[in-house]
Amino acid sequence: MSKFIYSFEDGYGKGKSLLGGKGANLCEMKKIGLPVPDGFTITTEACTKYHENGGKLDEQIKEQIFENVKELENKMDKKFNSKVNPLLVSVRSGAAISMPGMMDTVLNLGLNDDTVIALANLTGNERFAYDCYRRFIQMFSDVVLEIQKYHFDKVLEKMKEDESVERDIDLSVDSLKLLVKSFKNIVFNQTKQQFPMDPNEQIIMAVEAVFRSWNNNRAKVYRRLNNIPDDIGTAVNVQSMVFGNMGETSGTGVAFTRNPSTGENQVFGEFLMNAQGEDVVAGIRTPKPVSELQKEMPQIYDEFIKTLELLESHYRDMQDVEFTIEKNKLYFLQTRTGKRTAVAAMKIAVDMFEEGIITKQEAIMRVEPNQMDILLHPMFDSDALKDAEVISNGLPASPGAASGRVYFHSDDVVKQNKDGVKTILVRTETSPEDIEGMVAAEAIVTARGGMTSHAAVVARGMGKCCVAGCGDIRVDETARVFYTKDSVFKEGDYISVDGNTGKIYKGEIKTKEMELSGDFAKFMSWTDEFRRLKIRTNADNPRDSKQAVEFGAEGIGLCRTEHMFFDEARIGIVREMIVAQNLEDRKNALDRLMPFQKDDFVGIFEVMEDRPVTIRLLDPPLHEFLPHLDSDIQKLADDMKIDFAELKQTVEGLKEFNPMLGHRGCRLAITYPEIYEMQANAIFKAVSQVIKSGKTKPSLEIMIPLIGSAKELEILRKLVIDVGSKVIKDEGIELEYKVGTMIEVPRAAIVADDIAKYADFFSFGTNDLTQMTFGFSRDDAGKFISEYVNSDILKTDPFTSIDVKGVGRLMKMATELGRQTRPDIKLGICGEHGGEPKSIEFCNSLGFEYVSCSPFRVPIARLAAAQAEIKSQN
Ligand code: ADP
Ligand code: MG
Ligand code: MG
Repeated sequence: MSKFIYSFEDGYGKGKSLLGGKGANLCEMKKIGLPVPDGFTITTEACTKYHENGGKLDEQIKEQIFENVKELENKMDKKFNSKVNPLLVSVRSGAAISMPGMMDTVLNLGLNDDTVIALANLTGNERFAYDCYRRFIQMFSDVVLEIQKYHFDKVLEKMKEDESVERDIDLSVDSLKLLVKSFKNIVFNQTKQQFPMDPNEQIIMAVEAVFRSWNNNRAKVYRRLNNIPDDIGTAVNVQSMVFGNMGETSGTGVAFTRNPSTGENQVFGEFLMNAQGEDVVAGIRTPKPVSELQKEMPQIYDEFIKTLELLESHYRDMQDVEFTIEKNKLYFLQTRTGKRTAVAAMKIAVDMFEEGIITKQEAIMRVEPNQMDILLHPMFDSDALKDAEVISNGLPASPGAASGRVYFHSDDVVKQNKDGVKTILVRTETSPEDIEGMVAAEAIVTARGGMTSHAAVVARGMGKCCVAGCGDIRVDETARVFYTKDSVFKEGDYISVDGNTGKIYKGEIKTKEMELSGDFAKFMSWTDEFRRLKIRTNADNPRDSKQAVEFGAEGIGLCRTEHMFFDEARIGIVREMIVAQNLEDRKNALDRLMPFQKDDFVGIFEVMEDRPVTIRLLDPPLHEFLPHLDSDIQKLADDMKIDFAELKQTVEGLKEFNPMLGHRGCRLAITYPEIYEMQANAIFKAVSQVIKSGKTKPSLEIMIPLIGSAKELEILRKLVIDVGSKVIKDEGIELEYKVGTMIEVPRAAIVADDIAKYADFFSFGTNDLTQMTFGFSRDDAGKFISEYVNSDILKTDPFTSIDVKGVGRLMKMATELGRQTRPDIKLGICGEHGGEPKSIEFCNSLGFEYVSCSPFRVPIARLAAAQAEIKSQN
């Protein structure tokens, strides 16, 4: 018979994939002797079995549940359904990878009309017993019976109003009893069945509900966002209850062993006295900082701090714990690796290495590359802040700074975001249903809730700016307005949110870049010790090049020459060149363009010094540069002193059905070699000028785009070299340089051995390679890609992360074929994928020399490359 259940004593070492993160850690805490209420874990295998069974628990598992309940009864000396000493348990979900707020928990299970009386007698606290009972019915109805919460909230709010009390805990015993009665009525009205009184029935229903909730919408969305597989299932933990709501010597809270926002090495957390479970995170009452526990219960505080230290040194990472105090006795209910902001992740990694707790490799692995983005993100410009009007003050729940238009509903935020509107999601509090809106918003503001509220935890996980608990604003989601002390903000109004300080400002505020010193510099220099890949950048002007070098770029992997053509001073000449009817006119226009191109390159070479610079010759279809409006055509005709109608016809004639597969890239140069001749001339003259100025000696690589046949490259390589030789000779300089190609047309990958004869290097243009391999137009794929990902046809968007199976196979093939012909061929990538951690790991595995990405992704790529290499060695 398979074993589907482990008690907390037996489960140690069985692993998270079987017991879930919560279960495995409960077992581990038990093992190291911490005060953890007894219980057992039903494995993820049972969850899989449940789903295979078409959503039913099989008899074997049920039997094992009852056996384990029996065992727990003996341990606790309590009994299910006992009229003297009833056993009450929580039923808690817990997947292998923590999914905060995604799955549901039922507390106080085992209560019914009899056991509630027993609990009251036993504790001498009737108020407490009925408070537990009404909570149980509420939660069970929500999670298990799937009755909408508002039915219960409405009654509860009315009850508080009638009694003129603000907080749930101030309700009288009679009101609580009445509440229980009305709640049971709601259940009967909604389900046409009585609320189940038998604890055995309750527990089976609850376990099934947890398994079922694995497939609820918000869990699915969370998994999709975090790349968690759908088929690993969740475990269920059944644990005897301890009560934080037994009066003023009881309480409950959550804490981090270090500050999750800043990384500061100081315990950070919140608690509420006389409260249970979700009260702290739900944001219904505003919790107190744990430091106050020191005054209120000094002994407990001491034990608490000692235990946190023990947990951190045991797990060798920052922990996020849940604790409950029942009548002056401390219990731990959960520990897990704490989520943290990027700032905190970096500081904790650096500190823990310096404290001797972890190795440098471990420190590097502790920062999520994609999260680093935020470190490079703007903050509000301090001058602009001086004049800004503060409209509210909340908790700095997740750092960053953003301005945007206020919206109150997640679907509105998602809709506005699609239209390119920057939004701020403002709500009284958020719930898991808001997750898509939180993703789409620039920042999140809530009126209620603490640093561990749903909004705060989720925003930090996403690296999104969030201010929580702005107690001085009132949000009316229905009317789509929020009120501050003295004004009203409507949907669509601009506000600015500072996640570093917790301040909310009126209107839009200018932002400034972040400083790259201190821990950041130290940490980044460590990554450089471990990575094998070089990191280059995609840049086509001196400003971006300089930015990238500051971020640590070691060269340019892609300098697009066409961007320079769009400049106002040049576009006219470019257009003349394109519509020229004969070679002479075209050459004439090109001659005038040449000096501009040359100066662009001089600026870039000066910034890049002797770092390699790969310049790609003209790539897009000519048609992209043409005037489309009649007024623009007229202007060009006037400039060129030609007839409007004639010019219009020429422009029409250049239109293509499929420009991305049309007359572009090297194909242009095959028909109009003078274009590449001009560009090559400009490049070599620029190099010569820089060398002669004595400033630096550029390391030049010229790259020909869109090659599909070796012959194309043979011809164009010769063209470039001829120009180069002439300039070198005329100018009397010494120069070695490389000529290579992009691998972006699938055929090029297939015949890479031939192509390599004429290429000193290959640079994988994975954007086009992905487009052409899939036959997806990148600009149109938005219409269907998300559906493909949702329905699992694709695991991820291939334009975001390299499709290793298909596109990756072509890359591997081209790599091997290229090396056959030219063992020392230089390999790199210059598509957007060059800044994406998973793709970087793949490039590392192919032994590329470098990856190239946009300037702001350079630090991410440095870290990802170091992690890839560390992983490959372990
Ligand atoms: P989540 O994964 O959403 O955090 P949990 O299973 O951790 O859900 O439960 C939420 C909260 O319920 C816990 O933080 C704790 O306060 C409370 N809780 C769970 N089990 C017990 C228990 N056995 N005794 C007392 N409180 C409990
Ligand atoms: Mg929890
Ligand atoms: Mg391309």
